[in-house]
Parts: sequence; C-alpha cells; structure tokens
Amino acid sequence: MTYPTQPTASHFINGAYVEDDTGMPIDVIYPATGAVIGRVYSATPAIIDQALRAARNAQAAWAAMTGTERGRILRRAADIMRDRNHDLSVLETYDTGKPYQETSVVDATSGADALEYFGGMAATLTGEHIQLGEDWVYTRREPLGVCVGIGAWNYPTQIASWKGAPALACGNTMVFKPSETTPLCALKVAEILHEAGAPAGVYNVIQGLGDVGAALVADDRVDKVSLTGSVPTGRKVYAAAAAGIKHVTMELGGKSPMIVFDDADVENAVSGAILGNFYSSGQVCSNGTRVFVQSGIKEAFLTRLAERLKGAVIGDPQDPATSFGPMVSERQLGIVEGYIANGQEEGARLVYGGKRLAKDGFFIEPTVFADVTDDMTIAREEIFGPVMAVFDFDDEDEVMARANDTEFGLAAGVFTRDLARAHRVAAGFQAGTCYINTYNDAPVEAPFGGSKLSGVGRENSKAAIAHYSQLKSVYVRMGDLEAPF
Ligand code: NDP
Repeated sequence: MTYPTQPTASHFINGAYVEDDTGMPIDVIYPATGAVIGRVYSATPAIIDQALRAARNAQAAWAAMTGTERGRILRRAADIMRDRNHDLSVLETYDTGKPYQETSVVDATSGADALEYFGGMAATLTGEHIQLGEDWVYTRREPLGVCVGIGAWNYPTQIASWKGAPALACGNTMVFKPSETTPLCALKVAEILHEAGAPAGVYNVIQGLGDVGAALVADDRVDKVSLTGSVPTGRKVYAAAAAGIKHVTMELGGKSPMIVFDDADVENAVSGAILGNFYSSGQVCSNGTRVFVQSGIKEAFLTRLAERLKGAVIGDPQDPATSFGPMVSERQLGIVEGYIANGQEEGARLVYGGKRLAKDGFFIEPTVFADVTDDMTIAREEIFGPVMAVFDFDDEDEVMARANDTEFGLAAGVFTRDLARAHRVAAGFQAGTCYINTYNDAPVEAPFGGSKLSGVGRENSKAAIAHYSQLKSVYVRMGDLEAPF
C-alpha cells in the first residue's frame, strides 16, 4: 500500500494488530482506478474466537470504570481523530472512492463528533429513584455486555464510530466487522481508541464477508447486534439475533420521498435534491430518491437542476476540486446501470446523465429521470447510486399518500415556504428522520433511524443510550416483610 496511515494487518484484537493469512484473501480495490491497493484476510474461526474472548474478558473492568474515566478516553480519541483528519480522509477516499472534498468534512469529523458527544455523556448516565411510601426502588443503568457492530461500505469510519461510541460510553465492549468492500477505516478507529487509552479488548475489528458477521451474531457471548446494511441482510441478522433473544439496532435501506411544493425556493429545493441524491455518488441510505415536484414549479426545477448538475466536477477523488466520485465497486456500478436501463425500458424520461464514463474506475454520471410513475421499478426499489426519480403531483393529500406508499421509512423531506404545511407534512410522513427545507443532515445530537422496513432502534443522540444499556430495578423494603403463611 502506498498511502499514509495504512493499517498494518487485517484485524485489531486485544489492543494490537493481528494477522492470520490462512483466512480467505480480500483485495482492497481503489474505486477510482480499479487498482488493487491492499489485501486483508477474512477472519478464521480462531480469529473470531480470539476477538470475542478479548471483548468478553475486557468488559467487566471497562464497565467498572467511572463514566468520567470512560468518557475521557472517548473524548481523547475524538481529539486524535480530528488531529489526523487529513490522513484519515485520504484513507477513507481510498477505501470508498468518495471525494476528499466530502471525506475531509464528513467522515472522521462525524466519527469524532460521536466520540466527543458520547464521551461527554458517559459520566451523566444514571438510574432513578422511585419512592413507594417508606419503601423505594432504584434503577441501575447497566451495559448489555459484548456488542457486535456490522457495517455497510458507504461510511466506514462513521459507522464504526457511531456504533462504538455509545456502546463504549455505556460500558460495553465491541467487536466490529466492516463491509468486506471497505475494510480499512474501522481499523484506524480501533487503533485510535487504543492509543487514547481504551484498554485491550474494549474495541476490536475483524474482517470478513457475511459469514463472519453471521458467526458473530450467532455466538452466545454476544449480547447485542447493531447492523447497518440492506433490508435482506437485516432480515437475516434480526432473525439470527432473535434465536438468542439479543438486543438489536437495525439501520437499513430506504427509498425516501422529497416533496417540492410550488411555493418552495427553487435554488434551495435543487440544492436539497442534489445533496439528497448525488452526495457520495448516491450511496447514502437516507437519500431522497423519489422527488415529487408540484406542477407549477416543475419546469423551473428541472431546468435549474440540469444547469447545476453541469457544475459537478467528476474525476480523481483525491483532488480537493472533485465533487463527484466513482461508485464503490464494479458490482455496485453494474447494479446502477441495470436500474438505469430498466427505467428507460419502463418508460421514464432520461433527462440527465445515464452513462458510464469512459475511464478507469467505477464512474457513472449523475442521472435524472422525469415523468416517473409510482409503479416503475426505479420508483419502488432502493438503487443505492446516483439516480434521481422525479414525479409530478398536484395536491398535498395526493402526494402524502404516494410518498408514504412504500415499504421503507428511513427519511423524508419537504421544501415549502408555508410554515403550517411544512410541519403538517413532516407529521404525516411515515419515516424516522424528516427534513424541512434541508436534506440529509445527520448531527450526532439528533436521533437517526428508520421506521417500517428501514429499521428498528435509533443511533446518535440521547436515544442511542437506551439501545446500548439496560435498566435493572432494585426493590428496597424498609420495614418487616409480610407473607401469607
Ligand atoms: P449489506 O446488507 O450487503 O451488508 C451489510 C453488512 O452486513 C456487511 O458488512 C455484510 O458483509 C454483512 N452481512 C451480509 N450478510 C450477513 C449475514 N448473514 N450475517 C451478518 N452479516 C452479514 O449492505 P451493503 O454493504 O451493500 O450496504 C448498502 C445497504 O446499507 C443499503 O441498503 C443501504 O441503504 C444500507 N445503509 C443503511 C444505513 C442506515 O443508517 N440506515 C446507512 C448506510 C447504508 P459483506 O459486505 O462483507 O458481505
């Protein structure tokens, strides 16, 4: 490998890099060129066991530390992450192909935000006191134990941090398995946490495909599973976790609506549609890929959208001027090309892009379809690529019914200058994360997650604490105890 800060082995277990090259080799491919830039080895059963043993052995002592002590370590890790933002962003760009222009402001920075936020919260975690006459009950907020994190490939640093930070703040330990497509960045999160003072075994990373994830989920030593991935994987992981009655957080896919009313500011609505469809080359779970545009604003919207898309700088993602990078893999590119062909076959009007770029790497143009109808495949299935579908609508009731007519419920957005309508529409959305006159913000202070098939549980914010801890009730009798015999 020729880039800075490369991890030195495949796994990070018990405070150190660990290699076991008897595992299946996994090539790391730079999406901008298709070149192999590294290799890791899938975790063998021995590596899986080593990681779970390390996490299990470390958990009691980690939980026994005060919240202030645990939080200090997390906040120190946040500082290290911010200090190394440049190198971590370069690595994230090699791992995912996302432009440095994005990775330098979104990935390690939001990972650091999570470490700082939950680091600050660790010392504030308490139970409560419930008075019952003379007697009383108190609750203890306790960790769950060993948590498994399984990540998708679009935000490898962020996902590893968003799961690790609240888990560790609550006194759990973690074994994290990144997507095999982007195996590098989570290793740096583990390295930084260890350098910041996290004891050996508190945060471990092992590589592998779905079979390694499945082995982790099925293991009796695991108390909780947090998955970021697709709905089909979510179904499998949820079912496997249910066998052991394990806690779960499921951050799954989406096909989110974005509604643009006639009275919206056109420039802002176009900005929202660009952010909600083409950021990270469209590989964002919460993207607003069904853009409903009211008839009075349709022509203005499509005209400005096409003009602004011409401003996308597509090319070398390490160049800070580049604003649109490749897809993560040849496979994902093929999936996106298949959906574009399908959109044309089913009669949608291609108004922008649609073609693979004649260059190395997995580049495809930002693509817009207009005149999309609700029954088309591109209107119903998650594409997970830069393909926007624009729909026409006339009135609010009609568009709300259509916006909610989906099995997904991750996110939804509305653009309008009418304050009452904005809040009415937000209340009516069947989605976990909603936006008014903006799209795809994800600050650590706010809960993030989906409803319907898009998932269960919430990441970030105070809400995440409930998903990484459990309450124990302790009943205290002050007087004598009566019994029937
Ligand atoms: P996948 O569902 O294919 O994979 C997710 C992770 O699960 C990967 O690490 C994968 O390993 C692993 N995995 C696969 N099968 C199993 C199994 N049986 N047991 C345990 N683990 C398994 O998702 P992608 O990586 O393709 O990511 C894209 C999807 O993720 C999209 O649907 C997107 O919407 C969703 N996503 C959701 C987000 C959210 O917060 N709601 C955020 C980001 C993405 P491997 O890849 O090595 O096979």
